[in-house]
Amino acid sequence: MNNIRDWCISRQLWWGHRIPVWYCGNCGKVIVSTVDPASCPVCDGTELRQDEDVLDTWFSSALWPFTTLGWPKRTEALKTFYPTSLLVTGFDILFFWVARMMMMGIYVMKDVPFKDVYLHALVRDEKGEKMSKSKGNSIDPLVMIDQYGTDAFRFTLAAYTAQGRDVRMSPERIEGYKFFVNKIWNAARLTLNNLTDFDESAPSAAPDSLPEKWIKAKLNETIEEVTRSLDEYRFNDASAAIYNFIWHEYCDWYLEISKPALYGKISPEQKQVTQRTMKEVFGAMLQLLHPFMPFVTEELWQALKGSDENAIMVSKFPVVQEAWSEKAAEKDMEMLMEIITSVRNIRGEMRIPPSHKLKVLISVAEEQSKKIVETGSNYILNLSNLESLVVEVNLVETKGVATGVVGTTKIFVPLSGIVDIAGEKARLDKELAKVSKDLEQSSRKLANHDFRAKAAPEIIQKEEDKLKSFQEKFTALERALKKLNEIAV
Ligand SMILES: [Zn+2]
Repeated sequence: MNNIRDWCISRQLWWGHRIPVWYCGNCGKVIVSTVDPASCPVCDGTELRQDEDVLDTWFSSALWPFTTLGWPKRTEALKTFYPTSLLVTGFDILFFWVARMMMMGIYVMKDVPFKDVYLHALVRDEKGEKMSKSKGNSIDPLVMIDQYGTDAFRFTLAAYTAQGRDVRMSPERIEGYKFFVNKIWNAARLTLNNLTDFDESAPSAAPDSLPEKWIKAKLNETIEEVTRSLDEYRFNDASAAIYNFIWHEYCDWYLEISKPALYGKISPEQKQVTQRTMKEVFGAMLQLLHPFMPFVTEELWQALKGSDENAIMVSKFPVVQEAWSEKAAEKDMEMLMEIITSVRNIRGEMRIPPSHKLKVLISVAEEQSKKIVETGSNYILNLSNLESLVVEVNLVETKGVATGVVGTTKIFVPLSGIVDIAGEKARLDKELAKVSKDLEQSSRKLANHDFRAKAAPEIIQKEEDKLKSFQEKFTALERALKKLNEIAV
């Protein structure tokens, strides 16, 4: 607010605050007053005429931070809320509005009106064009909300609102987050259905096992990341953290790994531990998500907690629990997860049906890893659908196996009798030949000057997308073929 210059505050408009200046029709005196004068202070004449101009919009708007709180009266609201904490606005009125509010605040209230200004992104269409009626590329939020739900729409905005960047909005993106809402809904059903016989008041029957320690440690990290991101106005990072936790950690792993315990296949004590953790983690997860998706989280919170508990919107936001930080458990669990993923990848690449139970051998580098794998063998057996699992230190690789590698650990999946290696090779060769042809055709088209010059941009884009997907397919097929060739039969 240095070197500010004079600024003409009168405007010739119909709307606005009229300028508080009167002229005496008798002696010509110019009267400036905060209350309407009844007579001229010089000649006592009553023939007064108020100036017809109004104050510039930005002059009135500059008073907004304190006039809305009751100024010039010293109201309770003014004392409590001025200066405010945060102003959210667009960069295009930084000078018109933000700077003037600061100027007026410093002049009238002797203090700045806010400490932080968050300059939000502008919403554009998916190609980055400004939305406009004439272009017909506007997205009506109300239509989107009808179609995909308010929560999905809000989450989309938060997910794409990176600082300093515009939001590229498209119905497909909003639809993507509608699937996320569905995912949460399904996870809730599974969670709630498995809590019907859970007695929260019963004392804990057993300590947490590995998946419980792991999910709590992950929840801790998520609480930390969401809180820090919100504090720093990084809404996209906050929404990404909660999205990843819910989708990839809670749904993909924890719910899956917990099924045997929940179905009572391990022990009543383990079932109780799992139920307690599920309720705790699911509740905290809803609270973290609540600022982004207020409706679905409130609905599910009420279902989870019952009517005795307060609404989620007045519950306390989760905080990091020191006791939940378990670096060792996290590492062990991640090793098991990588082994499971590795077996699943081999299954996918070798086109082994998910229902076919495999016999897997695992070679580890030292005793410590052997212990971790053995302790978690039940999880590996269940989640990779194995018939048997053997783990040894420095196991020698045999012939006819597909190999997966996780750090110093090797995973061997014997293929004899499961995969017709020669037939599979022939199939891959044939597919590879076809994709090579597609790839060549598409590249040639894109290299053609005539095509580049004449085709509409979206047609060119479509062809480029096609080329990219051919390239990806080509790489994947090559990788699968290479793997197959590595298998010494
Ligand atoms: Zn006068």
